[in-house]
Amino acid sequence: FTFEELNLSPELLKGLYVEMKFEKPSKIQAISLPMILNPPYKDLIAQAHNGSGKTTCFTLGMLSRVDPKLKAPQAFCICPTRELAIQNVDVLRKMGKHTGITSECAIRSDGSNRNNIYNRPPITAQVVIGTPGTILKWMSCKKLSVSFVKILVFDEADHMLLEEGFKDDSLRIMKDIQRRSSHCQVLLFSATFDDIVKNFISKIVKGDHIRLF
Ligand code: AMP
Repeated sequence: FTFEELNLSPELLKGLYVEMKFEKPSKIQAISLPMILNPPYKDLIAQAHNGSGKTTCFTLGMLSRVDPKLKAPQAFCICPTRELAIQNVDVLRKMGKHTGITSECAIRSDGSNRNNIYNRPPITAQVVIGTPGTILKWMSCKKLSVSFVKILVFDEADHMLLEEGFKDDSLRIMKDIQRRSSHCQVLLFSATFDDIVKNFISKIVKGDHIRLF
């Protein structure tokens, strides 16, 4: 099985081979990518530990779904920590280097004026990766539109749910997307599937979906 068989654009293949220096898909990539990348773009719930190659699964999902001509947010990735958000943005920029797709890291401002969301124009980046609180804040102050979001990723969902308030913020983001944009694909990655995670899944994934665990 090769990356070529996934119908990825030449720009994305170049990102995988030249920038990332990957040769072939890992196990979780080989199983999940055909489902993530093709219609009907079913929701996917996957058990994935660090090191399994999950970041590539959802990064390719986001990069391949974005319409490069539409200068508006189309993919969100929600992460439990600022560090993970920064790491995921770095991977996306490297893998998507030849696509021209733009991205923004939505994490708490460092206090400087430049990073204060109130001093900035509305976000036009096509992929937004960040923590739930900041994404929600940007949405609330009308700097981040969800009208065109068609893929929503939850990375390390179990870690995210450990922190008070994260679950509520995530569900509010999800609800707002479902209210304002047409079908949005949800990809959820978690290392564990205890009752807390299962309960969260039942709230965010309603219809037909694929479970990989
Ligand atoms: P992840 O589980 O997504 O954090 O990935 C773990 C590590 O595996 C990272 O350093 C990736 O760059 C690497 N990796 C992911 N997919 C592949 C692949 N198909 N071939 C080689 N290395 C990979």
